[in-house]
Amino acid sequence: MVDQDVERDEDGSFGSRIKDYIMSKVPENIDRAQPVWDIAKRYHRTEHGTPLIWDRQPYLPPLYKMWPERPPKGMRVVIKKVPQEGISELALCVMFTYAGEFGARMYYVLPKYEHRNRFVAGRVDKCIAFTDRYKQRMAFAAVRKDGMAMKHFGRKGAVIFPSSNVRNDFISFGVDIAIIDEVNECVMENVALVDDRMAGFDSWRVRFDISTPTLKSEGISPMFDKSDQRHWHVPCDKCGEHQILDFWENVVERSQREGAYVLRDKVWRPNTQDIDIDIFCKHCGDAMNRNAIGEWKATRPGRPTIGFHMSKLYSGSRSMWETWEQYQRATTDPTQEIVFYNSYLGEDYSGGNVAFTLELLDKCSKREDEGYLMPDGLPDGPWEVAAGVDVGSRLHVTIFLRDKAWLRTVYIGTIQNDENAGDNLIRLLNAFRVTKVVMDADPETNLLLTLKSRLNQSSSIRLWSCRFQQDDYRDIRLNAREAHLTVDRTYAMDQSLSIANSGELLIPHNWRGIGAGEFPDSMCGPTRVREETTRGPRWRWSSTKDDHYRLAFTYAWIATTLMPPRVETDFSTGGDIDGGRVFTGDIPEDPFAIGFGSETNSRFFGDGGSGRFF
Ligand SMILES: [Zn+2]
Repeated sequence: MVDQDVERDEDGSFGSRIKDYIMSKVPENIDRAQPVWDIAKRYHRTEHGTPLIWDRQPYLPPLYKMWPERPPKGMRVVIKKVPQEGISELALCVMFTYAGEFGARMYYVLPKYEHRNRFVAGRVDKCIAFTDRYKQRMAFAAVRKDGMAMKHFGRKGAVIFPSSNVRNDFISFGVDIAIIDEVNECVMENVALVDDRMAGFDSWRVRFDISTPTLKSEGISPMFDKSDQRHWHVPCDKCGEHQILDFWENVVERSQREGAYVLRDKVWRPNTQDIDIDIFCKHCGDAMNRNAIGEWKATRPGRPTIGFHMSKLYSGSRSMWETWEQYQRATTDPTQEIVFYNSYLGEDYSGGNVAFTLELLDKCSKREDEGYLMPDGLPDGPWEVAAGVDVGSRLHVTIFLRDKAWLRTVYIGTIQNDENAGDNLIRLLNAFRVTKVVMDADPETNLLLTLKSRLNQSSSIRLWSCRFQQDDYRDIRLNAREAHLTVDRTYAMDQSLSIANSGELLIPHNWRGIGAGEFPDSMCGPTRVREETTRGPRWRWSSTKDDHYRLAFTYAWIATTLMPPRVETDFSTGGDIDGGRVFTGDIPEDPFAIGFGSETNSRFFGDGGSGRFF
């Protein structure tokens, strides 16, 4: 271990001299031209104690090889990526190499303490435990007090781990390199302090930003846009053309139906997931291997910032059928659409179907050739019927009849909120054979309490109160004892829009006149908007003064989720995602096929003439 020529300190220990000796030997041990690559390849062990292997990720080694012993002053690297592609492992190797081998002082910034603590305990500490070289670098640190916030290496190497949301974490400590991980979740006004911390004359001023993108104008996306924009170009095995893989060109093509895409692979069938979907060359049209060894090429060569874009299309960490399934979910659900762009394509998200429009309502009214009018009630039958009630000076009520193919809106209307409101509502629910009702719990009125006690103990109708909250939790929380539920408002509004986008919703053909035109205005009023919060951007549905029909509609959707699950959709015969659904099992007889609904329906449910029928 220690050569004979190392002198001992006066107290007989090797003391400071051994540190100098070991540190002086370090640069000779590793490849100075590509030290990060050398450390990663020869020494680094992951949190699982395994060496790094890039056989199936040929796009990764160039990201390790580009770091020289002394990076050029002001070097900037930006990686716009999809999750779980091993980029944090790269960042760790950069950190251990420069702090451990070359005495750099660094920031490794993460969004919050939770991220930071998880990362330091789960990744950094485990890598150190499994990697002898890192242990050795730490053993000879001048300072031995290390924890979650800071690690010391060698004589002057040190890494501080600030949380982006804590301004005081960006202590006055001159640094050479700043790594910002998950930029889009970070509090950017604090992150901006890292540039101050690199302002010193001696600082290397190297900055390395990493993130999954979110929106076009946020975080990593504008950084990448200003970079030299390197993309992984994959060669076609047939014609040799190198190309950037593009979902819209290599994977799908426009179908004859407006706005719809179909797979270019005409042979692949669902439920044959061991055979993956083929992608096709943009140039010669032949099937090509997306995992072929390609090369990074800059779209804007010569720009000082080095930028990389990573997508699941070439990384192979997702199969193409998983990507295709995510795309299909995205066509009807805005939240899933964001996931598709950000986490599969590594692209920012810039919009989509994020509100009801008159066109969409029109489409929902024309999914059946004839269209229909709302009936006065339903006969006895095996119906699954759910209602939503929004409480205000009037009760806005929406009722859905669910069969095996559709969610049919059989009632949209209002009831005066007077002393007869409870009786009128119960008559309406009985006439439509409703079994599940979800009603607005804000404010909790006597009406709600009275209805709960009248219905929940002694009728086939179960009434749930509902309170919206903002909590990112993408499901509905039920308190069965209280018949109360809570749900994230954005999620509920998204999902109730998604039934319209998915082709499942039917509305009556006279929808434009419902509520003397209030219904379409109310449905189209709320839109999905971005909201800046201290935790980064969040989506929220705007409130409008007259959004009662939209809310009743949302409550009715929530009520449908309380029904027993529908018979599984069978896509094995190649179901079309819009309208051409194929279902197994028998479809219950449709009341609309037996003459329900006509222009001459009388109105008799306390609507006070506000008008269900026109
Ligand atoms: Zn080709």
